[in-house]
Amino acid sequence: MSDKLVFGNISSKESMNLEETYGAHNYHPLPVVIAKGEGAKVWDPEGNEYYDFLSAYSAVNQGHCHPKIINALTDQANILTLTSRAFFNNKLGEYEKFITEFFGYEMVLPMNTGAEAVETAIKLSRKWGYEKKGIEENKAIIIFAEGNFHGRTITIVSASTDPDCRKGFGPFTPGVEKIPYNNSQALEDILQKLGKNVAAFIVEPIQGEAGVFVPDENYIKDCYDICKKHNVLFVADEVQTGIARTGKLLCCDHSGIKPDIVILGKAISGGVLPVSAVLSSKEIMLTIKPGEHGSTFGGFPLACTVAKAALEVVVEENLTEKAEKLGKLFRDEMRKIDSPLIQLVRGMGLLNALIIKPKDGIEAWDVCVKLKKNGLLAKPTHQHIIRFAPPLVITEEQLMECVEIIKSTILNLS
Ligand SMILES: *Cc1c(COP(=O)(O)O)cnc(C)c1O
Repeated sequence: MSDKLVFGNISSKESMNLEETYGAHNYHPLPVVIAKGEGAKVWDPEGNEYYDFLSAYSAVNQGHCHPKIINALTDQANILTLTSRAFFNNKLGEYEKFITEFFGYEMVLPMNTGAEAVETAIKLSRKWGYEKKGIEENKAIIIFAEGNFHGRTITIVSASTDPDCRKGFGPFTPGVEKIPYNNSQALEDILQKLGKNVAAFIVEPIQGEAGVFVPDENYIKDCYDICKKHNVLFVADEVQTGIARTGKLLCCDHSGIKPDIVILGKAISGGVLPVSAVLSSKEIMLTIKPGEHGSTFGGFPLACTVAKAALEVVVEENLTEKAEKLGKLFRDEMRKIDSPLIQLVRGMGLLNALIIKPKDGIEAWDVCVKLKKNGLLAKPTHQHIIRFAPPLVITEEQLMECVEIIKSTILNLS
């Protein structure tokens, strides 16, 4: 590795030192500094090239700095960026029509981050619960699945079962119940007991942060049916799984169901701006009235323009079909690796994980550090799991190159 600077004027070492000194220590990054990105590849300040197998937690499905999205950004940035919702703007309505038709919903509520969209879905579900279902004031319950990841706000961590997310952050929001994931009987049981007061069940169709935990084939459909039976909203958090990542536009499409509310974020903007959205029906959405919810940036003209371009890229470049096809290929190739370090390969589309069986003190983190040295960036999620989620624009040839990197890295370690 050379030490000469190729991109920017701050070295990797200096960048890491600055973050360490002046930034809160709320992350533990892999020791690599990214200075430039294009498509499925990124470069560090010294010019070393890497394949990006995290895609910013699936926010960069369309690839780094996609020219169409960047053009939309810069063109619109020269005209109008932010108006707030105190006034109409000439980009929001057009985008709202586009995104609702794109996903087949009647209405959208635009927000910025994934966590905000989850918060919005919680508020919307409660409002529907009181106004439409007739739940007694302040009695509404939202059910979540154990092992979930929905973001970092107080209400969302109230729904978490991860001690790291919760410890030291109480007291927590009431009206939250948790049941085991991938167990539809547990949903039926709790709804039989509390159903009258339950507004919604909020669930990830695949638990991404939990380690790409793919539930049984019928789980999502069964939960949807159980929710319908008890007049409970079925809410899908597709912030990570949505937008072509799993080989369908929405992961719930694999189950043939249409959630009452869909939560989207991350890849809506192709990783260019924080853009999130809550999609639902008129009947549910219109329970929230003017002045009851919002965000200064939510639906800002720049975001609308960028998001429309980013979603168009998904269709124009057949990213859904690509994720399906390349995902199958990737899992097949991973399963061929004959190493005691690999316990299991799982996933859907291009959202996959390798479960590492620690051997001679070698853990997922060590594998990721070696992969980095060999030109591929991935991050462990939990101790023994490595998520592999490259940008969906990766070519088959590039993917096969990555397969070789992963294969030789693992065989050299085991
Ligand atoms: C990342 C993520 C979120 C939170 O999104 P932020 O933009 O980080 O707030 C919510 N739900 C799921 C499933 C996610 O993967």
